Amino acid sequence: MMKDIDFKGKKALVRVDFNVPLDEEGNITDDTRIRAALPTIRHILDQGGAVILLSHLGRPQKKRKADGSIDVERFTLRHIVGHLSELLGREVQFCPEPVGEQARRMATALQPGEVLLLENTRFEPGEEKGDEALARQWAELADVYVNDAFGTAHRAHASTATVAKFFPKGAKTMGFLMQAEVENANKVLHSPERPLTAIVGGAKVSDKILLLERLLDFVDNLLIGGGMAYTFIKSQGGQVGNSLVEEDRLELARQLLAKAEEKGVRMLLPLDSVIADRFAADAQTKVAPSDAIPDGWMGLDIGPDAIAAFSAVIMDSKTILWNGPMGVFEMEPFAKGTKAIAEAVARATGQGAFSLVGGGDSVAAVTRMGLADKVSFVSTGGGAMLEFLEGKTLPGIAALQD
Ligand code: AMP
Repeated sequence: MMKDIDFKGKKALVRVDFNVPLDEEGNITDDTRIRAALPTIRHILDQGGAVILLSHLGRPQKKRKADGSIDVERFTLRHIVGHLSELLGREVQFCPEPVGEQARRMATALQPGEVLLLENTRFEPGEEKGDEALARQWAELADVYVNDAFGTAHRAHASTATVAKFFPKGAKTMGFLMQAEVENANKVLHSPERPLTAIVGGAKVSDKILLLERLLDFVDNLLIGGGMAYTFIKSQGGQVGNSLVEEDRLELARQLLAKAEEKGVRMLLPLDSVIADRFAADAQTKVAPSDAIPDGWMGLDIGPDAIAAFSAVIMDSKTILWNGPMGVFEMEPFAKGTKAIAEAVARATGQGAFSLVGGGDSVAAVTRMGLADKVSFVSTGGGAMLEFLEGKTLPGIAALQD
């Protein structure tokens, strides 16, 4: 734990998740992830420590330039330096390489109260392979290792997991953000006040099979929206027209519905849908029962009856977990369901329920609607939160305990 470590006079290697969205000119369009890491950084500085920051940004190895070289301009963490300096109220030093002679020199010269940001960890091919030699070079820069990058905790990379090996127990810990993510997820998993309702949406059943299976073991209600609903509806003999269906998951969908019944979990599919004649914002739309969608039409959002039924369950819940949008919320005509569910979750929270929103798109929806501070906790880790809730051991967390 952070509070058990005395950072005074120490150099802390802090893995953060500064993988923020940037526009064409390299300006930060959403700094949530940077802000989320500030308490950890500030705490170390306030205690008289120095901070060496490691982060990835994007996928520079996968998106190399035509000549095979890394696109430094696009993926450099230099884009972050100005804004981070402003937020911290002190100058952040930048090393234009992730490891090497210059990184060593700058880290050695670093004084208490100073911050050094190293270049994008993924510029090193060894990062995503969990390379030991690379991890050792990072470890040699500091006395203490802090992992606050919950968003990449499900990856066994050199800077998120391997590096922890080179620090003894008592000299490695989760940062405050990671700790909050874990505590909030554990609250849902291990000590939920009931009724406990999970709302799962998004495009595909196949992405969330493990989550759904796991949820059926302990939730009271499971509300299914988004594209994945139509695979369930078709598996029950419904007519779903041209809606998104995973034909190879129909049997699985049937099994999940049977498991829900067996376990006494109330599993709700959307009664009705907003259907469209094309996958487009200017398509013709109407409302139809979700199991009677004509050919040539597709369900792109939950309908008004589904909103009412889902909202009623949400309002009666004491613990709420939400992952994935209810429709194609990126297009205005199909955003109503997701908005209504966000509002219901916020209202239930106002009445005293505990709510955790996790997963990139539902987080984006809640944030865009200005409801982020009306729910109990908004997770910064999409894939990592999903895996944590599925019950998997996250390498970035496990490595701190060895
Ligand atoms: P996921 O990443 O699995 O949470 O899925 C999010 C994506 O699912 C969003 O981009 C939505 O546009 C998409 N989505 C939600 N509902 C539907 C639907 N009914 N049909 C097709 N795509 C959908």
